[in-house]
Amino acid sequence: MSTRIKQIAIYGKGGIGKSTTTSNISAALSVAGYNVMQIGCDPKSDSTNTLRGGHYIPTVLDTMRDKHDIVLDDVVFKGFNGIYCVEAGGPAPGVGCAGRGIITAVELLKQLHVFEELKLDIVIYDVLGDVVCGGFAMPIREGIAEHVFTVSSADFMALYAANNLFKGIQKYSNAGGALLGGVIANSVNTTYARNIIDDFVAHTKTQVVEYVPRSMTVTQSELQGKTTLEAAPDSAQAAIYKNLARKIAEHTQSTVPAPLDTQALRVWAATRAEQILRIEAEALQPNGAHI
Ligand code: ADP
Ligand code: MG
Repeated sequence: MSTRIKQIAIYGKGGIGKSTTTSNISAALSVAGYNVMQIGCDPKSDSTNTLRGGHYIPTVLDTMRDKHDIVLDDVVFKGFNGIYCVEAGGPAPGVGCAGRGIITAVELLKQLHVFEELKLDIVIYDVLGDVVCGGFAMPIREGIAEHVFTVSSADFMALYAANNLFKGIQKYSNAGGALLGGVIANSVNTTYARNIIDDFVAHTKTQVVEYVPRSMTVTQSELQGKTTLEAAPDSAQAAIYKNLARKIAEHTQSTVPAPLDTQALRVWAATRAEQILRIEAEALQPNGAHI
C-alpha cells in the first residue's frame, strides 16, 4: 500500500481496554488489506495474546538477556491474518525503569531494519499510560509515533490518566513530538457516560474518535484467545472496531490538546460527580419520582 509507514501509539490507564482495542484495530486493518505490526509496550506483555490464539510470545527484553546476535524471527511473530506481533517486555517488578522495554525494542527493531524489511503500512504501539515517565513517553517525545490515541472510559481515574498524557503531548509538541488524534471512548453504554466523555474532550480541546460499548462478545472472544474480529467477525461489536480502524487509517490531522491543570480537573470532576449522583438517584426512584 502506501510507501510511508504510519505509526500510531495507543495510550491509557492499566486495565482500561488498550490491548483489546488495539488488537481489534490491528485485526480490522489487516483484514482491510494493510500490512500491520503491533508492538506491546506494557510490562504485562499480553498485548498481542488475542492475535496469537491466547499464547504469549517471548519479549524483546527477555530474548536480549538470553541471546546474542538476535535476528528478526527471534522477536517478531506472526499472528492472525499475518499481523506481525512484538512484545517489548519489562524488567522484574521493582527493578529498573518499566519503560526500558520500549526503548530497547524500538532500538533493536531499527537496527534490524524490521520496518523496511517487512514492508509495513501501519505500526501500532500499545502503551501503558498511567505513568508518563521517560520510557513510556518515548514514542511521543521522539516523535516515533505520529499520532497518539488514548483509550478511556468515563471513570475519573481513566480520564485523569488521559489528562496526564495530554500534558506529556503538550510538553513535547514544539520539539517534534507526537500529537493527539483523539479519545477512544471504551465501555461507554449509557448516555451519562457518553456525556461525561463528551464534556471532557470539549474541555481539553480534543475529540472522541469512536464510542465502543462494553460487550459480552468481547469477553467471549477473549476466552477463546481471539479478537472479536476473528471470533465474531459479523457481530455489531466487530463493525464498531472496523469503523474505528478505518477512521484511524484515514486520520491525518492530529492536534495539541489542552490538558486541565490538576485543580481544574478536580473541580470539573466534582461537578460531574454531582450530575452522576442525580441521574443515578432519579433512576432508582420508583415511578420516576424526583428526590
Ligand atoms: P489494558 O490493555 O488497558 O490493560 P485490556 O485490553 O487487557 O486492558 O482489558 C482489560 C479487560 O477488560 C479484559 O479482560 C478485556 O476483555 C476487557 N474489556 C476491554 N474492553 C472491553 C469491552 N469493550 N467490552 C468487554 N470487555 C472489555
Ligand atoms: Mg494491555
